Amino acid sequence: MRILVTGGAGYIGSVSVEAFLAAGHDVTVLDDLSTGHREAVSEGAALEIATYTDAASVAHLLRRRRIDAVLHCAAKSLVGESMVDPAKYFRANVAGGIALLDGMRDAGVNRIVFSSTAATYGLPERTPITESDPIRPINAYGETKRSVEGAIRWYGHAYGLRSVILRYFNAAGASTRNGEQHAPETHLIPNVLAAAEQGRELTIFGGDYPTPDGTCVRAYIHVEDLAAAHLLALQATDPADSRTGATAGTAGTAGTAGALACEPLICNLGSGTGFSNREIATAAEKIVGHPIAVKIGPPRVGDPPVLVAGAQRAAEVLLWQPRHGTIEEIIESAWKWRRSHPNGYSG
Ligand code: UDP
Repeated sequence: MRILVTGGAGYIGSVSVEAFLAAGHDVTVLDDLSTGHREAVSEGAALEIATYTDAASVAHLLRRRRIDAVLHCAAKSLVGESMVDPAKYFRANVAGGIALLDGMRDAGVNRIVFSSTAATYGLPERTPITESDPIRPINAYGETKRSVEGAIRWYGHAYGLRSVILRYFNAAGASTRNGEQHAPETHLIPNVLAAAEQGRELTIFGGDYPTPDGTCVRAYIHVEDLAAAHLLALQATDPADSRTGATAGTAGTAGTAGALACEPLICNLGSGTGFSNREIATAAEKIVGHPIAVKIGPPRVGDPPVLVAGAQRAAEVLLWQPRHGTIEEIIESAWKWRRSHPNGYSG
C-alpha cells in the first residue's frame, strides 16, 4: 500500500510509520512539525512538511504520491488546552479534518483510518466501555473528535468513504527508535518519569474522585500495539473487504457516481485493565528503582474519573492482539527510551 500518515512526525504517528515500513509499505508523512519532530520520521519514509488543513494541497499531494489510504493521526490533543482554547481545537481538528476529507474526495482516495479517542465517551455509564455506548464528550477535545467521526460516517454513506475509527485509551510506552516528547508535557507517564529523573515531586491532578484511591483511572496501551492496530485497520479498508464495505442493499445518495454507502468500523483500543494515577506512580517506582514523591493537586478541568475499555471488537474483527500487555512493560519501554535519548529528539 501507498500510505499517507498525517502527524507522522508525532508520537503515535512515528511509531506507526515504523510498523508500516517494516511491513513493506510505501509511506509518506504529512506533518507541519508544529508539535512533531523531524528526527522521529524513519529514513525510509518521505516527509512532506505542510499542513493537512488545506484541501487543494492535500489533493495535490495524494495524486503526486499516488496514495491508496490515509492514517489521520495529526490533531491537537490536549484536554486541558482544549478547555481554555476550544477555537484552536475546532479549527485544527474539525475544520482541518474536513479539509483533509475533501482533499481525499477530490483525489479519489476513499480509505481512511482515523485516530479517535476514549474522550468521546465522556462520563461512561458503565465500565468497561463498549463501542455502542453513548458518545457524550465532556471536554472540547473529545467533542472535536466526535465531530470528525460524524463527518467520516456521513462521507461513508454519501461518497463511499471506507473507514476505521479507532478510539484510543491512553497511548504510552516507546519503540526503540521513537518515544513521547511533548512541550509542554501533560501526559502522566512521561511526567512521572521526568519527576523520577529530576528528583522532583509529581503532581497528581485530583485525589477526590469516586475511584478506589480517589485518583483518576485510565487504561494504557503500548504505542507499538496501536501501530499494529493501525496496519490491520488500513487493511480492513481495502475495496474488497466487507468489514468497511457497503451495508447490504444500500447505495450512495449523493456524491461519487455509483458509490456504495459504507459504514465506519469503530473499535476501542483498550487493555481492559484500568490503573489509577497513584498506581502508575507506584509501578514507575519499581522500574526506576527509587521512590517518587507524589502530591495531590487540584483536579484538571475536563477529566473523567474513569476511562477503561476492552478491545473485544478489535480482537474479533481486526484480529488485533496487543503484545505488550503489562503496565510494567509499557513504563519500562518509555523509561528505556528516555535513558537512550537524554536530550530527547534534539540531542
Ligand atoms: N495526570 C496527572 N499528572 C500529570 C499528568 C496527568 O495527575 O502530570 C493525570 C490526568 O489528570 C489524568 C491522567 O493522569 O487523570 C491521565 O492523563 P493524561 O494527560 O496522561 O491522558 P488523558 O487521559 O488526559 O488522555
